[in-house]
Amino acid sequence: MANMNCDCCEKLKAVTTDVDSYQKCVENSLQQISALNIKYEHTVNELSTIINIFEYINLVTDYKNLFSIINDMLIGVLGATSSTIFIYNGGGYKIEASSLSRQSLLSMEKIGQTLLARYKDNREPFILNGEDITDDFSRERDIRSVVCVPLNGKEKRLGIIYLEHYRDDYFTIEAKRYLNTLAIAIRLSLENAQLYAKLEEMALIDGLTGLHNRMFFNKEINNCMDNYKKFGLPFVLTILDIDHFKKVNDNYGHLCGDMVLQEMGELIRQSIRKDDIVCRYGGEEFAIIFRNTQDMSGINLRLEALRVKMEAKRTECNNSEIQVTSSFGVVSCCSTEKCGSVEEVIRRADEALYEAKRSGRNRICIAQ
Ligand code: GH3
Ligand code: MG
Ligand code: MG
Repeated sequence: MANMNCDCCEKLKAVTTDVDSYQKCVENSLQQISALNIKYEHTVNELSTIINIFEYINLVTDYKNLFSIINDMLIGVLGATSSTIFIYNGGGYKIEASSLSRQSLLSMEKIGQTLLARYKDNREPFILNGEDITDDFSRERDIRSVVCVPLNGKEKRLGIIYLEHYRDDYFTIEAKRYLNTLAIAIRLSLENAQLYAKLEEMALIDGLTGLHNRMFFNKEINNCMDNYKKFGLPFVLTILDIDHFKKVNDNYGHLCGDMVLQEMGELIRQSIRKDDIVCRYGGEEFAIIFRNTQDMSGINLRLEALRVKMEAKRTECNNSEIQVTSSFGVVSCCSTEKCGSVEEVIRRADEALYEAKRSGRNRICIAQ
């Protein structure tokens, strides 16, 4: 009986030991699971912040302020002391947004030059800490931690994100990885912004002649009028119209008509100076704005030379040589000629053009 009891005791002991070790094992596993849970929770939080930022950046259509917004966001999300975004402009890194004061931007731009040399061959993100930060500008401001992530487009450099902190070892490998993921969102919005700028530019160009279009003209004539009213800067507007252009289409076809418009547009473009603006105003009408000038006799000479050139030009199309003439209406806004509104200036130029047509075409008429 006693032996049996002892047997039981031994078995019980063994079972208790087993249970203990299983319990420890379970506790260990639970601890590991809980640590993993915390880690995953952290990762999920990180990912959801990244998704939020992706969504947020995509919603921004104010491309002029986009990079200031992103820059502020980087400081908020990563708790950096300062943040700067450089954009590569073909020759070097230009600061697009920075939390630094205006006076500091020149020194930061010098850091951009060093980064350009550093990223010549290798465009990987990097972290600098303590004594590794050697430039005077950072040392003067007691910067002890830096993380730098390049914005790489397809085979080309687009820019750099540069974050600083006063504390040693502030930026961890996780922060670098995190920033690297954010860099993808920022790169996409940068590419969007560049595409948008291109589209905006294209929206102001006439597809046939490559000259600026009516929309651009409206913007520029309003600028000229503002400068005239605010600062007394004079300008002269000319609207010119090809004579009997309908006959060109009727006699030679629409495609030949297009060629004539292209060649006339090119003649006008060649005859203007850097400060002047030329646009395709309508079908076979062009507008020239001579800015910051009231030298009417000079302008008259130049327009007369243009009129002669247009008349002398022969456009070759379908074995024919097409010749056209043009009529010009001119109006001046200067110290002696008072101008009302943009609409009034355009109306007067139109009236002068009509007068040129009425009195025989192929001539210049100046509004009185
Ligand atoms: P006027 O001397 O009075 O200006 O006579 P016009 O024939 O030039 O003027 P009208 O306004 O009667 O006709 C203008 C013509 O220009 C009619 C239109 O089909 C043509 N036109 C407008 N835009 C284009 C274009 O982009 N390509 C071509 N080929 N023709 C165009
Ligand atoms: Mg016309
Ligand atoms: Mg015409």
